[in-house]
Amino acid sequence: MIKNTLSFARELDHKDPLREYREQFHFPQHNGKNTIYLCGNSLGLQPKATKSALIKELDHWAEHGVEGHFRGEMPWMYYHKYFLEPAAGLVGAEESEVVIMNTLTTNLHLMMVSFYRPTSQRYKIIMEGGAFPSDQYAMESQVRFHGFDPQNAIIELHPREGEETLRTSDILKTIKEAGDELALVMLGGVNYYTGQFYDLKNITKAGHQEGAIVGFDLAHAVGNVPLQLHDWNVDFAVWCSYKYLNSGPGGPSGVFVHEKHGNNPQLPRFAGWWGHNESERFQMKKGFIPMQGAAGWQLSNAQIFGMAAHKVSLDMFHKVGMEALREKSKKLLDFMESLIQDINEVSFKYNIITPKNPEERGSQLSILTGDEGKQLFNDLTEHGVIADWREPNVIRVAAVPMYNSFEDVYRFVELLEKFK
Ligand SMILES: *Cc1c(COP(=O)(O)O)cnc(C)c1O
Repeated sequence: MIKNTLSFARELDHKDPLREYREQFHFPQHNGKNTIYLCGNSLGLQPKATKSALIKELDHWAEHGVEGHFRGEMPWMYYHKYFLEPAAGLVGAEESEVVIMNTLTTNLHLMMVSFYRPTSQRYKIIMEGGAFPSDQYAMESQVRFHGFDPQNAIIELHPREGEETLRTSDILKTIKEAGDELALVMLGGVNYYTGQFYDLKNITKAGHQEGAIVGFDLAHAVGNVPLQLHDWNVDFAVWCSYKYLNSGPGGPSGVFVHEKHGNNPQLPRFAGWWGHNESERFQMKKGFIPMQGAAGWQLSNAQIFGMAAHKVSLDMFHKVGMEALREKSKKLLDFMESLIQDINEVSFKYNIITPKNPEERGSQLSILTGDEGKQLFNDLTEHGVIADWREPNVIRVAAVPMYNSFEDVYRFVELLEKFK
């Protein structure tokens, strides 16, 4: 039974099996105290261990120069391999199905090269209306690149009149209706704006039934919700590491390619030397032969500094496990929701547009505020809350299980009440 009090919040923190992890992060300060940081869906906090991991690589470079590729505990030459176990674990993949490289939008384009090969009959893409802009631009430019008109080729999913999120049944219906014109279903795993976690398994199934490819942008899903990409038979996925994965601004991206595609060397792709058959990479020969699995999509040698930060964070996720994180995340959100409901009971003010069903959301609540939303947001900021504002009037907050406390949640809603 949830009690909407500070002492109850503290009791939950006291009992929280993950409470020690909060101490392992740097919190931005406000008037000499930790901010109430609810922006881990935008830029995750810095693990305290990251600095020394970066300095270690700088020292390695200083000491060994080019020999650093082959020396030490983590020779740079094999750097991309040090992520396979934790990355595969996070997204529910075989190790051969994942690779860490480049940045998110770059990888989305690389995946489109292989997986969006439209014909005059089958060329349409289903995506979310109002998807994250980079995804919109990527899809639009890919469609044009192949000589199609985005107006005609891109089918956008929108909530029904008067509703804020998509109904799974409507998504499945749209897929069915697109039928043999449908080339690709490309959705976010968790919608960045509403926080809705889509039914990836059934969407994938429906897409395949129509003979389409199904890919997901997991920027807001990875490290946030449990994923089983291999078992769900997802064709490909991409994600970034600086949101829930705490790997620093512009941190490296991850890619999943299902093994049914990864082991097909005939699949068209844009190639680079790091994707070439490892055993003869340095023979510098003509004729690209891809590595098996997702590794065969690599272009370049690893960007060590970004990757070193990513390694610190992934190891932490691997240690804690998504199951424990998910359990705490649900509790944090239940608590936040319950506190906001209390305010609304007195006079309705905060319309939570994120689905109520815990299975249909992750760590984020998107709160539709009234006309004075921007003022409210500024007041919150002045009182040490770091959240995210989206025009016209949505405040997005994420209570991240790795480092947020129940007291953070309580303090935030206390301010919501104060400024309502
Ligand atoms: C954060 C985010 C991006 C950002 O793309 P970058 O290439 O990493 O700058 C793209 N798409 C979605 C859905 C996102 O949430």
